[in-house]
Amino acid sequence: FHVYGAPVLGENEELRGIVLVLHDITELKKLEEVRKDFVANVSHELKTPVTSVKGFTETLLDGAMHDEALSRQFLEIMWKESDRLQDLISDLLELSRIEQDYFELNRTRFDMSSTITEALRLLESKAIDKHLLLTSRIDTGIYMDGDEARIKQIIINLINNAIIYTKEGGEVQVRLFEEAEEAVLEVEDNGIGISPEQLPRIFERFYRVDKARSRGSGGTGLGLAIVKHLTDAHGGRIEVHSRKNEGTTFTLRFPKSRNMEEEEFTNS
Ligand code: ADP
Repeated sequence: FHVYGAPVLGENEELRGIVLVLHDITELKKLEEVRKDFVANVSHELKTPVTSVKGFTETLLDGAMHDEALSRQFLEIMWKESDRLQDLISDLLELSRIEQDYFELNRTRFDMSSTITEALRLLESKAIDKHLLLTSRIDTGIYMDGDEARIKQIIINLINNAIIYTKEGGEVQVRLFEEAEEAVLEVEDNGIGISPEQLPRIFERFYRVDKARSRGSGGTGLGLAIVKHLTDAHGGRIEVHSRKNEGTTFTLRFPKSRNMEEEEFTNS
């Protein structure tokens, strides 16, 4: 609490009372903590790959470059670490862009079914490499008003996570259907799942249930924070159900596009 006090004086300047104003700063403090944590996390996440690239460069310059096999091994690690740095920077930029007050979506009316199909096509080979069954049940004719590139990014992030956090031989299913005037997207996996204690935290920036697994698979820890922000920006809702060692389902609901006749009617 911040406390402000002032005396209340009577006609003859005698003390008649004291006014105390108590200002609850819990929320402010919390925000400040979150900001500090975020800066500390960003610094740490950026430092790790840079330190590694620097270390290997130094070792190469110190003589390791004369050993071709070793050089190749080091360069491959450096390549991977620079990749991670690039992903991290682009996720950070995207997050800061969408957190701005004046952030605007590039809105158009688009066909959700084809956006999902494109996202699935992009991730098909990753699923095959991991011997996962990637299936879909996509209803057609579901349109939405929104930023198509961003919606595609949401879908890619969710399917990509489902692939990463599901063991070989598992299954990922993507569904799109209409319910109560809303477009509903579901991404379900039968992977490692998330425990009830950790579930409420997964949308926080840099929160990971298993740091090593996330890093090892190229995760930045920002994917779901971006998904949550973009879903909110589209007036959508996100829900997640998960059971440890059984699987996870993300359900997203977006307002459907009004149909053409309605648009013409309201414009005239
Ligand atoms: P990351 O880059 O680490 O995947 P995200 O923000 O996308 O970051 O996800 C945050 C954390 O939530 C992940 O590190 C992982 O622990 C958990 N998670 C996300 N999706 C799933 C899923 N489908 N199954 C199990 N855990 C998941």
